[in-house]
Amino acid sequence: MLEIENLTHTYGAGGPNAHHAIDQLNLSVAEGELLCIVGPSGCGKSTLLRSIAGLITPTGGRIKVDDQLVRQTPDNLAVVFQDYSRSLFPWMSVADNVALPLRRKNMDAKRRREAAAEALESVGLSDAGRKYPFQLSGGMQQRVAIARALAYRPTLMLMDEPFGSVDAQTREDLEDLVLKVRGHHRMTIVLITHDIDESVYVGDRVVVLSKAPAHVVGDLQVKLPAPRDQITTREHPDFVHLRAEVGRLVRGQPVAH
Ligand code: ADP
Repeated sequence: MLEIENLTHTYGAGGPNAHHAIDQLNLSVAEGELLCIVGPSGCGKSTLLRSIAGLITPTGGRIKVDDQLVRQTPDNLAVVFQDYSRSLFPWMSVADNVALPLRRKNMDAKRRREAAAEALESVGLSDAGRKYPFQLSGGMQQRVAIARALAYRPTLMLMDEPFGSVDAQTREDLEDLVLKVRGHHRMTIVLITHDIDESVYVGDRVVVLSKAPAHVVGDLQVKLPAPRDQITTREHPDFVHLRAEVGRLVRGQPVAH
């Protein structure tokens, strides 16, 4: 589904303030996988995600989504950003926000409304369609952003620190929401986080990036009993072991065997 080969990105390349953000990064993600990418703050995670989304042109290497070289934003892709307050349009109702990207698809207004209502229902917000974003809590607004991504029926969903701006309880609810929706909608998810526990709790696989310039320093499969649960999964010995392993990799310490 996603192939990244020798990706390199330098901001301001050739200039006096050049910053080498990504260095020879290689990564492939299988269809249907939920991959978490974790790494120290400022290591280049968002740069990686923006490159996959075609929002910036990397200075080297290549990225393919569904066997197509990424030159602009791929059609089958949706992105959920951290800052929901800037990603929803405040003057549009919740339902209109969710339906907006569907205008790019060949759907009439009635079908767009139905798809938006269905997506809102799948994130537990069936009654919020007529409200405006400011009438909802932060966690609910982020649910709307997730519903907007789901309504689009992407085959690849990118999430950049999607739960970074909500309180701890809401964060857990949203993690569980992502696990639930990926069970219902067949899609590949790449979720970026700096939260080690979250990466292990949510991911089928966790890729750890080095400090800047980012490259892959660890790639771990997460095999935990399903369904995952905020209490029992987090106390499972395999969870405890994996979070320690990821923690060492993030800190650049040798991994225990
Ligand atoms: P992360 O998401 O891991 O916190 P980013 O990808 O946002 O990291 O940023 C990686 C590095 O690149 C940081 O040091 C950041 O300051 C720098 N950077 C990000 N965007 C730009 C930009 N547009 N111009 C110059 N430097 C940038």
